[in-house]
Amino acid sequence: MKAAVLHKPGELVVEEVPTPAAGPNEVVLKVEACGLCGTDLKLYEGHYTANCPVIIGHEMAGTIVETGKEVQGLKVGDNVVVDPNESCGACDWCRSGYSTYCEDMAAYGVLRDGGFAEYCRVGAKGTYLMPEGLSFKAAALTEPVSCAVHGIDRAAPELGQTAVIIGGGPMGQIHAQLVRAAGAARTILIDIFQWKLDIGLQRGASEVINAQEQDAVEAVMEMTDGQGADLVIEAVGTMATIEQAVGMLKKHGKLVIFGLSAEGAQAKIVPFDVLTRELTIVGAWVNPYTFPRALQTMLTGQVDAESLISEEVPLDNINEAMQHLAEKPEGFMKALIVP
Ligand SMILES: [Zn+2]
Ligand SMILES: [Zn+2]
Repeated sequence: MKAAVLHKPGELVVEEVPTPAAGPNEVVLKVEACGLCGTDLKLYEGHYTANCPVIIGHEMAGTIVETGKEVQGLKVGDNVVVDPNESCGACDWCRSGYSTYCEDMAAYGVLRDGGFAEYCRVGAKGTYLMPEGLSFKAAALTEPVSCAVHGIDRAAPELGQTAVIIGGGPMGQIHAQLVRAAGAARTILIDIFQWKLDIGLQRGASEVINAQEQDAVEAVMEMTDGQGADLVIEAVGTMATIEQAVGMLKKHGKLVIFGLSAEGAQAKIVPFDVLTRELTIVGAWVNPYTFPRALQTMLTGQVDAESLISEEVPLDNINEAMQHLAEKPEGFMKALIVP
């Protein structure tokens, strides 16, 4: 079969590899669509370490073509999505309800072969039936949506609150839609590109701030009569935006750090400020137990992630799509690889 193999950072080659066969508790799916995401770019650039050589791609949807002999509840012909962070279910973390920290996470597309291929072999326990009515295109976005559902769980918005989302990329856009669905009355999206803000205004954002034109913290303060936001979701991952995020919180407000920042990078936070304003700062990492809910949010229209796909690309052209992702030309939001 054909697959995109990352041999080392900077060297992603579409080549012939053996077609995988299912182990006893595995299924093999014919990949119909697989989203290209910022994590893939970080692997490609070497900022996040893959188990090279490895077939990357972790946002996959497809049809089962083979099931292992122990597999129950899934059969050939089923349309499915795969949780790439398939946890073991048996370690202390998994058993205590914290699969995020699983000591034996599958990590398809990072540590094990993933979905930028014609076929992909995955564990049955991380494989979910696609609800009827969902397209492969939409279903391929279940993983990013499931990570945002966890972000919203960590944010725990309350009805009537004001939420700020920093970052108008796909994850910021998905968060804006979901935090609104979860009860925020005002959803203020911040980015430096007006075209991204315009996309936000079509769906999740009630108001926008162009941080190229105004100081983001001052703008939030003005829009909230000097009070600040109840909730800020940071979906960029730079130290500057994290510091701004703290500065625009209301007393007793909460910051969710979602954007992937460089390991070891340090932001300035004033402890006295956190203390006296009683701020809460939490992280939201991957997608524990959120796959079924992510599917429902997409199926019922609580989030429209599919419309964020700006290009569909055959496997042979994956390097071009990776280039687009790196350069982010105007109008580029999310690429879907269609093997
Ligand atoms: Zn992803
Ligand atoms: Zn585990």
